[in-house]
Amino acid sequence: MTVSAQPKTSHYINGQYVDDTSGEEFKTLYPATSETVATIHAATPAIVDQAIASAKVAQKAWAATPNVERGRILIKAAEIVRRRNDEIARIETLDTGKAIQETLVVDANSAADNLEYFGQVAATLINEQIPIDGNCFAYTLREPLGVVAGIGAWNYPIQVASWKAAPSLALGNALVFKPSEMTPLSALILAECLTEAGLPDGVFNVIQGMGPVGAQMTTHKDVDKVTLTGSIPTGAKVMASAAESLKHVTLELGGKSPLIIFDDADLDNAVSGAILANFYSTGQVCSNGTRVFVQNGIREAFTSRLVERTKAIKLGDPLAPDTQMGPMISKRQFDIVNNYIDKGKEEGATLLTGGGSPSLQGFEQGHYIEPTIFDNVTDDMTIAREEIFGPVLSLFNFDNEASVIERANDTEFGLAAGVFTKDIAKGHRVIAQLQAGTTWINNFNLTPVGVPFGGFKMSGIGRENSRHALDYYSQVKSVYVEMGGVDAPY
Ligand code: NAD
Repeated sequence: MTVSAQPKTSHYINGQYVDDTSGEEFKTLYPATSETVATIHAATPAIVDQAIASAKVAQKAWAATPNVERGRILIKAAEIVRRRNDEIARIETLDTGKAIQETLVVDANSAADNLEYFGQVAATLINEQIPIDGNCFAYTLREPLGVVAGIGAWNYPIQVASWKAAPSLALGNALVFKPSEMTPLSALILAECLTEAGLPDGVFNVIQGMGPVGAQMTTHKDVDKVTLTGSIPTGAKVMASAAESLKHVTLELGGKSPLIIFDDADLDNAVSGAILANFYSTGQVCSNGTRVFVQNGIREAFTSRLVERTKAIKLGDPLAPDTQMGPMISKRQFDIVNNYIDKGKEEGATLLTGGGSPSLQGFEQGHYIEPTIFDNVTDDMTIAREEIFGPVLSLFNFDNEASVIERANDTEFGLAAGVFTKDIAKGHRVIAQLQAGTTWINNFNLTPVGVPFGGFKMSGIGRENSRHALDYYSQVKSVYVEMGGVDAPY
């Protein structure tokens, strides 16, 4: 079976595939076998300039296009993304190693939902009229920012690209997107879908490369906004370099989110929640609830059910429809996660299941890690404090509501949080006190497009999804209109 998915060229600028073969060559590898999926050239400074210049030219006419027309194009692109779902799923699986049973239903689907939603929003944008007195009033205009630079992480490649493209384009911005160097392929497919839908050339561009290409985008004089999905250290660098020219910034960063299971929770639903919060996408999800606090009364029943269901998770060939969990994206991520597993053992946590790196027949070069559960984790352990970004769940005990809230909040992160309880009042009371931007009561990790997504504290700035995203991809102009005389004191 071939795992090759070589694109025509590396970059997509001004509605066309382009390349500059003098750019540094890098390969994207299939994480299950380490075979080459595609060979790509990083953007040279000339390619970065070319992409940003084409976005700058295209943006003016795009912003002047009627909102309904912009919306129609995004909605049409959503249809095309859905039509190409199976092809996109395969590419995402080859690039990330995520099980095809996930990528078939999540990745392109989420991208299409976003394009559709913001297409509809574009068609329904309205401004405010503000009465002042009989002789004057004011109104607002929501204007695009201009050229947006988007920089993506590798865990949900087409989703990340679309979550940035859809609100940007709906509001009349143009975008230059750089996917993660680990997953360069699906953003190019998104560009093809947008062009086929009728998006004018230059409004959405894709360039490839590593950190330095991203860094060039964040300092470019013709970029008005930078939107990054990535780690906190990268977020800090992006914000610092964007600050030099006061660019707008959206940062979707990492997390170490708490999931609190109260004694009165529905046992099976709570176990399902903990599994969704930790093992989907081989644990490589920013909002994962990796700190699972379990109240003492339900602890034994919860833990044994959780371990039983976790042991049954099927690792294997990511392209096989019955595989539930694929490998880690890379050898590097595999080593990072294994180091954390070693740290957990050294610092005295109890390994309940997993922790191993199985060698699967036919996939000996794959970076597989078993879904892992540690019990008796204490708040000061390394695995309790740092983002692992792998399939490692930590269990903590608690008795008392006030103390668990304090412990849940005792972190620099604030991306997500969850509570399982049948007591409605308690669910709302506890969620209201958790310091996190994206929260769930009696579920976890669901991110419908109509609901804002983003982090508190070090987990980020700004919101994606929902109408709240509009505020981060536009600027408001107020217009004061005088209809009477002008009273001047001098
Ligand atoms: P990363 O920070 O290593 O890289 C993210 C992107 O930034 C890549 O495209 C990379 O090339 C680019 N980059 C690196 N250095 C740069 C620089 N100096 N200037 C500009 N761009 C630069 O992150 P990753 O390993 O790709 O992704 C994993 C991280 O992303 C985790 O921390 C995870 O929690 C986070 N994440 C957050 C969300 C969210 O929505 N909050 C979603 C997915 C992943």
